Amino acid sequence: MEFGWTSEQEEYRRRVRAALDDLLPDDWDEKYVPESYASDLQIDFSREFCAKLAERGLLVPHWPREFGGSGGKDWDHFILGEEMKAAGEPRGPQYMNVNWIGPTLMRYGSEEQKSQHVTGIASGKVIWCQGFSEPNAGTDLASLRTRAERDGDHYVVNGSKIWTSYARKADWCFLLARTGPSRKDISILLVPMDTPGVSVTSFPGLIKDGHLNEVFFTDVRVPVENRVGGEGEAWKIVTHALSYERVGVPRYHVGLEALKLAVEQLKDEGRYDDDPIVQSRAGMIAAKFEGARMLTYLVVDQRVRQLPPNTDANLSRIWSLDAVMDLMNFLAEFLPDALAGGDPLLEDYYRINIPAGVTGGTNEIQLDLVAVNGLGLPRG
Ligand SMILES: Cc1cc2nc3c(=O)[nH]c(=O)nc-3n(C[C@H](O)[C@H](O)[C@H](O)COP(=O)(O)OP(=O)(O)OC[C@H]3O[C@@H](n4cnc5c(N)ncnc54)[C@H](O)[C@@H]3O)c2cc1C
Repeated sequence: MEFGWTSEQEEYRRRVRAALDDLLPDDWDEKYVPESYASDLQIDFSREFCAKLAERGLLVPHWPREFGGSGGKDWDHFILGEEMKAAGEPRGPQYMNVNWIGPTLMRYGSEEQKSQHVTGIASGKVIWCQGFSEPNAGTDLASLRTRAERDGDHYVVNGSKIWTSYARKADWCFLLARTGPSRKDISILLVPMDTPGVSVTSFPGLIKDGHLNEVFFTDVRVPVENRVGGEGEAWKIVTHALSYERVGVPRYHVGLEALKLAVEQLKDEGRYDDDPIVQSRAGMIAAKFEGARMLTYLVVDQRVRQLPPNTDANLSRIWSLDAVMDLMNFLAEFLPDALAGGDPLLEDYYRINIPAGVTGGTNEIQLDLVAVNGLGLPRG
């Protein structure tokens, strides 16, 4: 397969790069990137940065004009995502709003929700977090226990969420809560994070500051009009939302950049040019990332042509993660000092990818979905 960009797409990529040159501070690589995009520093920066991107029509280029977009194609969004990811993701948490929260609300939200939240996200000034996982409900999300009980024109929410990235600084939570007795009686509520009874506690982990939080809900009153879709409809809506998230992160792009940095360092140290083993390992990783790129483009193309979601999205994610894991092993084997303070960019890449096979649904589950939905094998 031969893949080429159109001249308009190349021009668009140049516009994104020019905006990055213009809007990122001079000390971006040294000061901001090592802090990670979930740190307070980067989240605060992202509010200013995304608002300026929005003014230039570059935050949600693929959204319809009525929602603050530029009426472009999903390809524009992917070019944008590649360039942002390669630059250290200065959109901070707002890549998530743009990837799936906005599109989900566009499709399932009420008119009021669309006008408040979709246009809010398009302005680049609002931060969201995703309140799905709980201490005993990650993969098996249907076992979640946070409850929302109806009290007149409000729900009263009690329970807790865990691993809620960006929660400390978020304005809104896209929350899943149980609203009935059966396993899938789950509803979506949009909860302002400053509502009385919401509290956030951060905890440390191997990846950097800001990613790992618990959110507690104690008698939190949420107006019924903040529910997305009907009561108990979360399952259908979330399945749609996650089909966007699955191909949302162009891991191949930043992976190839990190591989390039690693090879340069090995060359500088005289450990590359005469070592066929190191060369072939690096070559295989580069080939895998290129494969991941093609699979991702295949899925984006299907989306642009409005074909129904299928297991190609799972495969593209599995393949990308495989390449990421190979690169992490390569770094640990050949450049261990770089990962322990020797090179902030490589160390950041390594740390941020430690949970890559877990966030947004684990790799095993992706494989399961391919087996059952793609190959028609019986459910295990
Ligand atoms: C850095 C980070 C950020 C995150 N951010 C968020 C966030 O913002 N919001 C949010 O809601 N969640 C977030 N998560 C949570 C993430 O979605 C869950 O960790 C993930 O869904 C897995 O759930 P779990 O941790 O409970 O693991 P478990 O579900 O307990 O899984 C443990 C292991 O068992 C395997 N396993 C489980 N069930 C099966 C099965 N049926 N078949 C085969 N294997 C299986 C899994 O693949 C995994 O390897 C984040 C997680 C991390 C690490």
